[in-house]
Amino acid sequence: MNEKEFKKAIDHYRSLIDKEMANEKVIDGKFVGPKKLTKKDKIDLEDIIHPDRPFLSKDAPEDLDSLYVTTFRVGNLKKPEVLTKAGYGTDVIGGIEFGSNLVKTGLIESVDDIAPFLAKYKIGILDLFREEEVEDGKKLDIRVYECIDCAGMPNIGEPVCYFETGMLIGILSELTGKEVFAEELRCWTSGYSCCQFDVDIKETKKGLDG
Ligand SMILES: [Zn+2]
Repeated sequence: MNEKEFKKAIDHYRSLIDKEMANEKVIDGKFVGPKKLTKKDKIDLEDIIHPDRPFLSKDAPEDLDSLYVTTFRVGNLKKPEVLTKAGYGTDVIGGIEFGSNLVKTGLIESVDDIAPFLAKYKIGILDLFREEEVEDGKKLDIRVYECIDCAGMPNIGEPVCYFETGMLIGILSELTGKEVFAEELRCWTSGYSCCQFDVDIKETKKGLDG
């Protein structure tokens, strides 16, 4: 994806998400976007085979993008159903290890490398929407559009991108040497057209108290 296309995607999704966030609700303490809510506990096969990725699919011939995205998602079904929710913790840890290894092996060398890497491997389109200094460090509002895990999935009332949450923690903590916390507050599976992460980079160094 070239720079012009990338910028076009960011502009498109920023205005779309603006509208969605203006029409969101808070249900049981969770943000739920305006897409129709489907009452189900889990995502099934029919849900994962229709990714919605107009920008990332542009340089893939025919429907190749939906094929490799589906292949990736089928990998998530390796967990037995009873473990689907209990497995979220391991997804976060796996993501942290993956993210940290991206930095250790030099595939990502700086914060500026993150978005090009994610676009190249078609994991998603990363938008550092806001960055602010707070008393104990930094707060980031990171959005990922056309996420390989959730783009096009139904609104089941809660986010599911635990691997990506971990990946952001792993990359940012390895790059900064600081303690990083991240939470996905909005997702395709909670009614939006993006994943939105609240990220805290704490001033205290990793492993130190206080
Ligand atoms: Zn998501």
